[in-house]
Amino acid sequence: MKAVYIEKHGGSEVLTFGDLPAPRLEPGHVQVRIQWVALNASDLWTRNGWPGLKLQFPQILGADAAGEIAALGEGIEGLQIGERVVINPSISCGVCMACLAGNDNQCERWHLLGETTNGTYAEIASVPAVNVLKIPDGFETRSAAAAALVFLTGWHSLITRGELRPGETVLIVGASGGVSTACIQIAKLTGAMVFVVGSGADKLALARSLGADVLIDRTEVDNWSSAVFQANGRNGVDVVVDNVGSGSMPFSLRAVRKGGRILTVGNTGGPVFEIDNRYIFGKHLSILGSTMGTHRDFATVMNLIFAGKLQPVIDQEYPLREAAEAQKRLESGRQMGKIVLAV
Ligand code: ZN
Repeated sequence: MKAVYIEKHGGSEVLTFGDLPAPRLEPGHVQVRIQWVALNASDLWTRNGWPGLKLQFPQILGADAAGEIAALGEGIEGLQIGERVVINPSISCGVCMACLAGNDNQCERWHLLGETTNGTYAEIASVPAVNVLKIPDGFETRSAAAAALVFLTGWHSLITRGELRPGETVLIVGASGGVSTACIQIAKLTGAMVFVVGSGADKLALARSLGADVLIDRTEVDNWSSAVFQANGRNGVDVVVDNVGSGSMPFSLRAVRKGGRILTVGNTGGPVFEIDNRYIFGKHLSILGSTMGTHRDFATVMNLIFAGKLQPVIDQEYPLREAAEAQKRLESGRQMGKIVLAV
């Protein structure tokens, strides 16, 4: 099968488009004939490598995808060959205590598809049957692929972990990335008032089109946390969604109200930064971290997407063989929503 893979870590030049054997069909798994792939920041981190990451090369990248069932492993019921499905890339064992408690994204053997196992930049991917969800007739396969990881992540963070309520004020740091565009919509659907800090008029216009109520251009203010206070009647906000980390967290700690919570699912700006601990205890803050979401979260949020209540934003599409160009665009930070690959 055709696939995009790496045989060593490095920049986009290490991506190779070529032929690899299709993955073996294991019991309990399905093979999906991939039609659309969506890119995520985790694709870049896996490609770049990090200390302690030991992959078996060649490694096929990619977490998000949708397509149709090509083959069913032993013992699979309720799915048919040819049905269109979207993949939930959060892979868990199903039998550990966390899985049994329904916290499958805290699984002892949890992994992200395409991070330590072969992923979706390919014509065929093999995933546990529990990780595919049928796409209803009339819903675009491309949109399903683009939605999966970021809406799962946003839903788990804002709703399951953050327990966002109607009428609360939410500040989202970032206007145009995949998780930010998902979080803006989820927060609006919940009935929250949404503040967005972003850089540049184009990205903020996208946030506005998704329903954001208050826009702050970080390139035009010295201190965006005080701009948030000014815009909120000299009050902090109930919830800050900070998936940037380095560079933004000191401002987020100032922008949140006493007793508020800070949600984080990632660190696109870098993982290491200083925290002034006086903000945490002095303001009675809760810092809530999470990664991805549960099977239940996935079914819930994808059904809202299938119903048209939430809509993934698509930036640009590339053919699979141009995955390197697509990753360059993702690295540039110029994208507005999800970058997708047509297989
Ligand atoms: Zn488990």
